[in-house]
Amino acid sequence: MTDPVSREFFAPPTRRQLLTMIGKVGGAGALYQAMTVLGHAADSQFSAPPRLTGAKPGASVVVLGAGLAGMVAAYELTKAGYTVQVLEFQDRTGGRNWSVRGGDTITELGSIQTVQFAPGNYLNPGPWRIPYHHRTVLHYCKELGVELEHFAQINHNAFVHRKDAYGGKPQRYREISTDFKGHVAELLSKSLNAGALDTAVTAEDKARLFDAMKEWGVLDKNRAYTKSIKVGEQRGWDRAPGGGVNGAPIPGEVGTLSDTLSTKVWQQIGFYAENVMQTTMFQPKGGMDRIGKGFAAKIGHLVRLNTRVSKIAQDDNGVTVSWTDSKTGVSGQTRADWLVCTIPATVLGQLDVQVSDAKKAAIRALPYSNSVKIGLEMKRRFWETDYAIYGGHSFTDQDISLISYPTGNWFGDGPAVVLGAYPYGLIGSYRLAGLTPEKRIAAALDQGSVFHPAEYKAEFLSGASVAWNRIPWILGCCATWTETSRAAHYQNLVSLDGRVVLAGEHCSYYGCWQEGALLSSLDAISRLHQRASAA
Ligand SMILES: Cc1cc2nc3c(=O)[nH]c(=O)nc-3n(C[C@H](O)[C@H](O)[C@H](O)COP(=O)(O)OP(=O)(O)OC[C@H]3O[C@@H](n4cnc5c(N)ncnc54)[C@H](O)[C@@H]3O)c2cc1C
Repeated sequence: MTDPVSREFFAPPTRRQLLTMIGKVGGAGALYQAMTVLGHAADSQFSAPPRLTGAKPGASVVVLGAGLAGMVAAYELTKAGYTVQVLEFQDRTGGRNWSVRGGDTITELGSIQTVQFAPGNYLNPGPWRIPYHHRTVLHYCKELGVELEHFAQINHNAFVHRKDAYGGKPQRYREISTDFKGHVAELLSKSLNAGALDTAVTAEDKARLFDAMKEWGVLDKNRAYTKSIKVGEQRGWDRAPGGGVNGAPIPGEVGTLSDTLSTKVWQQIGFYAENVMQTTMFQPKGGMDRIGKGFAAKIGHLVRLNTRVSKIAQDDNGVTVSWTDSKTGVSGQTRADWLVCTIPATVLGQLDVQVSDAKKAAIRALPYSNSVKIGLEMKRRFWETDYAIYGGHSFTDQDISLISYPTGNWFGDGPAVVLGAYPYGLIGSYRLAGLTPEKRIAAALDQGSVFHPAEYKAEFLSGASVAWNRIPWILGCCATWTETSRAAHYQNLVSLDGRVVLAGEHCSYYGCWQEGALLSSLDAISRLHQRASAA
């Protein structure tokens, strides 16, 4: 018979216990190596929040910005025993972790919109999906009680549209991705058959490749990609399988090689193959801002809202932050021992900041991308009832780049919000951002109609948009590092500078992900704590 204590004592260590022991004995390098061996670090460098203990009595930290990076810093530093104050420019916490609902306003340079969505509906103008390997985000969702639901990423029944493919008619992803695979398999088989690859593959591998291409590409007995029941099982049917006398399915015609190539479907295949775009994906139930609100429930009382920081100074004994209250116009200063700054580099570069020239150069060398998100509220879920599309994205080469169907509340009645634009390219995003909010909605309706011509405009109720380069507290979407700029500036950006450390998405190798904001912040406060403890 064993009791819980002895079972714990004699049992082999769990992965987490093992990693903690290795970390204690061998330090961060050994820990990372061990995590890689155990298959952890490949996805995220996170295993557990740092255990910061032993803050000097009365030691204080001021945190600038109440996005996820700022709030996780405040949360963990408070747990460690520091006295923390957070200064935030906006009248809300969360930063880019943001959801807009009926009655909310969106303030851009040059316009203010009031969102008119029905109760329960929302648009996530910034982050909207969480990959399964973003362990830091998932950890805090669990710790903060944020309920997660599935986010539908790939949808084989959604569309791909290109203006110059199939006469501009959108094609189902399942059809053209199957055709692409089939034609590539047929061509490779022909090349193998002709001996064109005999110097590149062994006879044994050639035989295996023949088999693989036949099965993977769904080729016929002549190793050709042609219409068949087996192909229909992947690309769908002209007449779906049924029961009784007319139960036999009828497969559709396959596209020609040339038609298939004109869709450039390999771009979507490549998109879904990216590690950060793979399934399973999650979203917080009710809006991405549930994460920010979860942090705010813990440390919201420490945040001074409507506080625009304009100057950061430091001396041997501490830091002084100068700010203005944007509601009252009153100016003030906050003094603390240490400072964590999560203000985006686009804004920080314009402030008076007392750090090394190398850090200033790093801040100013960091350009931000742009994007626009447009939410379109529709009277009913016609994409579900009329097209059998449940979540996922339809892609286009127009400025809007894609439309995305809502994941939550499938089969629900009443209005629902489609993401009507999320341009990838700079051209599309700046063209849409250059329009007034009303004209953006009109452009999104025009372009999105290509997928649902009869319904898109007829079912439209109201829209809301965010053009990130026009958002005054960031003036962009996310930091865009290049290999050259990283080599020149990254370490200078993230290094501790006296009593000041920077954190946020821009201070990570996980740019434009909440995971990066959290990981950078945990790293920054660990180093700060080490210095503060040694001081
Ligand atoms: C369009 C878009 C799509 C995205 N999609 C995803 C996604 O699907 N999944 C995902 O995980 N991530 C996504 N991201 C990235 C994610 O939003 C960010 O990585 C993360 O939220 C950044 O957090 P942060 O704390 O570093 O910065 P922020 O959230 O930007 O916080 C910075 C804070 O500083 C404040 N501030 C600015 N100036 C001042 C000042 N002068 N004084 C005081 N405070 C100031 C701001 O108001 C803000 O609250 C997306 C981002 C965008 C824009």
